[in-house]
Amino acid sequence: MNNSPLPPDEARALIFNRVAPLDFETLPHAAVLGRVLARDVVSPLDLPPFPNSAMDGFALIAADLENAPQGLRLVETIGAGEVAAHSVERGTCIKIMTGAPLPEGADCVVMREETRELDSWITFAEAAHAGQHVRPRGDDVRMGETVLGRGTVVSAAGHAMLASLGCAQVEVFRRPRVGIVATGKELVDVDAPLQPGQIRDSNSWALRALVESCGAEVVSVHRTGDEPREVEAVLRALAPSVDCILTSGGVSAGDFDPVRDVLLQHAQVHFWKVAMKPGKPLMFASLDDTPVFALPGNPVSVMVGFEEFARPALFQMGGRRAWKRIEVEARLQSDLHSPKGRTEFVRALLKRGEDGFLAIGTGDQGSGRLSSMVRANALLEISSDTTFLPAGSSVRAKLLDDAAFEIGAL
Ligand code: AMP
Ligand code: MG
Repeated sequence: MNNSPLPPDEARALIFNRVAPLDFETLPHAAVLGRVLARDVVSPLDLPPFPNSAMDGFALIAADLENAPQGLRLVETIGAGEVAAHSVERGTCIKIMTGAPLPEGADCVVMREETRELDSWITFAEAAHAGQHVRPRGDDVRMGETVLGRGTVVSAAGHAMLASLGCAQVEVFRRPRVGIVATGKELVDVDAPLQPGQIRDSNSWALRALVESCGAEVVSVHRTGDEPREVEAVLRALAPSVDCILTSGGVSAGDFDPVRDVLLQHAQVHFWKVAMKPGKPLMFASLDDTPVFALPGNPVSVMVGFEEFARPALFQMGGRRAWKRIEVEARLQSDLHSPKGRTEFVRALLKRGEDGFLAIGTGDQGSGRLSSMVRANALLEISSDTTFLPAGSSVRAKLLDDAAFEIGAL
């Protein structure tokens, strides 16, 4: 193990070397929204499967309207889901609704709004061209075309597409199963009265939410005190039944940091300490074969550590192709000081102004201040060699969630 703090990118590279996509499972269509496709989806058919009308109007032969205005005889009316009983002959038309198959003989559709109807006699004001308002067969998707790639998350549109293609059973990656262990004898439940020296456990709630936001499954959440033996017993019991363990607290240099002691003694430690702020004491280890992310206890550090390391790992295990958060350029609202030698992740509220994003600091950046995280929708990544950036500087901001942006005055 390397003992000096690793740059975050090197730490992540070590993690990527040790985690791989899990196996597949086949699920019914209704169950795969939000899941990750394990195979490319190749279309078994043309979409639309037949040429059809893009408008409510009249199907006819364009050549019949060469000398428009022109009247044509109406022979039939069809809606979506119906097939015309007649074909369109010269001098005739068929009234057609959006989505109905184009009748034999017809080569175009004229919008209803551009016609006058008198009993069975329809008058068309203007000429038309072949193909007008017709959606040809295969216009959207061609048979044999790869429509969705392996490793993509099934979105609303993707789920709709799978339905269109008739994919009743879909192969997806198994969701990573994750165990969470919060350590610290000061911790109590959300509904417990606080005795002197106690605080409520908030990290396990942050981790639970973050794990689920990755499409992974929280199998169990445990809380331990600061006894190495207790921590070891919980980790050993958990390891065989999960794909990954996340711990919080007990991994720095204090007298009562049991996760550090247990992993150093019983696990294969790949790194401990990352050159970042917050979240420097962060260990990545394998206990038997189970990856363990030992995240720091401070409420901000645990979340930033998750973002930088556990999220990419869970995405990789879950088979996702993309793991990077969306980044945008933003301008600093105020001066920013940053430590040398460590990448800093600054919590910020991005607002959208007329000429781009403005990054507003969310107050004191102490790693214990959960309130600075609550107000943030982005992390600014400040490189290790930057110590000062004046207001107005351009910075890279990683978006933290799907929240919409407030429009702010710049
Ligand atoms: P540690 O890394 O265990 O020394 O914890 C660092 C700080 O984070 C201490 O102030 C802890 O009380 C706090 N802390 C640790 N675990 C949690 C937790 N699960 N929820 C809230 N705060 C925590
Ligand atoms: Mg602790």
